Amino acid sequence: MSEKKTILIVEDEEDILALIHYNLTRDGYKVLTATTGEQGVKLAGEQHPDLIILDLMLPGIDGLQVCRELKQRESTGHIAVIMLTAKGEEADIVTGLELGASDYVTKPFSPRVLLARIKAVLRRGEQPPADPDAEQVIELHDMLIHPGRNEVRVSEERIDLTYTEFRVLYLLASRPGWVFTRYQIVNSVRGDDYFVTDRAVDVQIVGLRRKLGEYGKYIETVRGVGYRFSDQDGA
Ligand code: CA
Repeated sequence: MSEKKTILIVEDEEDILALIHYNLTRDGYKVLTATTGEQGVKLAGEQHPDLIILDLMLPGIDGLQVCRELKQRESTGHIAVIMLTAKGEEADIVTGLELGASDYVTKPFSPRVLLARIKAVLRRGEQPPADPDAEQVIELHDMLIHPGRNEVRVSEERIDLTYTEFRVLYLLASRPGWVFTRYQIVNSVRGDDYFVTDRAVDVQIVGLRRKLGEYGKYIETVRGVGYRFSDQDGA
């Protein structure tokens, strides 16, 4: 890391705050802390951190509201947000991702996992995601995804996909490691003459995995949340 990245932690539980603070500082980050949502929004606007770790359960305005406010403001809208969530909060995770959060970590978590997620999100922030409109060819895990030709090859072999299956795959593969909710997939894939429902997304995924054979494993189900294309080799 050439320059110190700044991370703002918004968390009301002191022991968790201290644990994250300790690990981030040790890893070379500059750390800011807030124990309420209001304070978090204010600090983010003043200090412009590179990333925000945001607990969803906060006194006063909750984490989702904080996320909404941050993403709506021009000065903070671009800041990456990783949500801290509790088990069973899948609906809130979905809402948070749709509001623009980059990722989430479920409590209890290991500091190592949190640090890995932070690194991945910061790394993604530095490389702009493939723009679906730019129709770039994606090469990943021995797969070649060619949007201009609606064509996929795995280990040189051409796979026949329907148009919708292709768009779903292209969307997921354009941002490896990124969790997409069903709503985000529907929104991105739906054409003028198509209406894709949440359930239909699951059906498309089943079809995709089957056609991709052993490469189907790279499309990961994130239970209760959505789908993600693996950024790990040999996942
Ligand atoms: Ca909390």
